[in-house]
Amino acid sequence: MVVTQPRADAVPRRVTILGSTGSIGRNTVDLIERQPDAFVVEALTANSNVALLAEQSKKLRPRVAVVADPDRYADLKDALAGSGVEAAAGAASVTEAAARPAEWVMAAIVGAAGLEPTLSAVHRGAIVGLANKECLVCAGDVMMTEVSHHGATLLPVDSEHSAIFQVFEFDRSDRVERIVLTASGGPFRETSRADMAQVTPEQAVAHPNWDMGAKISVDSATMMNKGLELIEAYHLFPVPEPRIEILVHPQSVVHSMVAYVDGSVLAQMGTPDMRTPISYALGWPDRMPTPAERLRLEEIGTLTFEQPDPDRFPALTLARQALRTGGAAPTILNAANEVAVRSFLDRRIGFLDIAHTVEHTLSTAPNGRLESLSAVMEADTRAREIARAFVAKRTAVN
Ligand code: NAD
Ligand code: MG
Repeated sequence: MVVTQPRADAVPRRVTILGSTGSIGRNTVDLIERQPDAFVVEALTANSNVALLAEQSKKLRPRVAVVADPDRYADLKDALAGSGVEAAAGAASVTEAAARPAEWVMAAIVGAAGLEPTLSAVHRGAIVGLANKECLVCAGDVMMTEVSHHGATLLPVDSEHSAIFQVFEFDRSDRVERIVLTASGGPFRETSRADMAQVTPEQAVAHPNWDMGAKISVDSATMMNKGLELIEAYHLFPVPEPRIEILVHPQSVVHSMVAYVDGSVLAQMGTPDMRTPISYALGWPDRMPTPAERLRLEEIGTLTFEQPDPDRFPALTLARQALRTGGAAPTILNAANEVAVRSFLDRRIGFLDIAHTVEHTLSTAPNGRLESLSAVMEADTRAREIARAFVAKRTAVN
């Protein structure tokens, strides 16, 4: 295969979407369909939703469509028969799809499963729209080293990080005093800890402002999402951890802020529609039109801000401590959280057990410096084993 050096100014822009069937993936497809002349699609990948992957493939005509679940290969091949789109299956094929010569890659797989495919795009110096925050939390140092080594470009898609990216003066970063990450507070912003013990997965995924995948919705409910975003921001922007603050802002209008030494605070605002931050990365360095509802501040009237409550949302403290501890701690935090969220969604543990599982795993799993991808994977695997054993004990008690 010939790997061409990706170009930011190529028209049409050749794009690959990793995780095209998810919430971010579908929003990315929506934007591409609105500007068919601006993009050609190289590859689409999904975990198991063959019906949607085939439907997207028939519309966008990628060269290849990949389903990660190898058992779904025959279904995908049948669904794509006669379309001219090549079918492939398996985790290795997802990583290979990311290596194909697209200038721009959307990294929208959920969880650490997105790490290897994202690194595969980074290794050929691609422009990567990064939605998959877990891969930066799990392997931030390794990832950022690879990005600079291969001349890749990482463009944040997470709405807070897109906001910061849009107002961050990179040529004067020594003049940045602090970053303020805003958080909606999630569905349990006003719920007591006693009531949180009883909440169901259905209640946890019902986010008040954003329509997202199940995992990130639960992360928003525990506020671990903001903890992961703290670590994500630490890797993306040259600002030390103590100067990255978190503020609860229930209206989700101010997507984040950067405060400068002169007292100026620059914020990016908009209605809560992920197509705005996705479009900023997809069209970068240009801006592209989106159908996102326009912001009418006079209709909203009041914007409020409050400090997060560490007693009801211990995940925030766990994430900050993991970042301060460093080494494998963020990898362990992420792995344990993925296991715990899955277990909560499967009704094996209660909502408050999510943070308990993460805390237990952080205090039990061995820490150490992670200088290679294999060291990261080992720490991730070990942490998952410890978290699963903790969940199994919890399940036996309940
Ligand atoms: P989602 O669950 O809706 O979609 C996940 C996608 O990843 C799907 O296409 C799925 O098929 C694919 N996938 C899942 N497991 C896989 C595996 N093992 N191998 C290959 N593919 C796999 O999730 P989402 O809400 O779109 O979130 C995607 C990522 O973007 C997450 O990291 C999330 O934190 C981040 N993010 C999402 C939003 C949002 O609004 N949804 C906002 C900010 C950041
Ligand atoms: Mg976010």
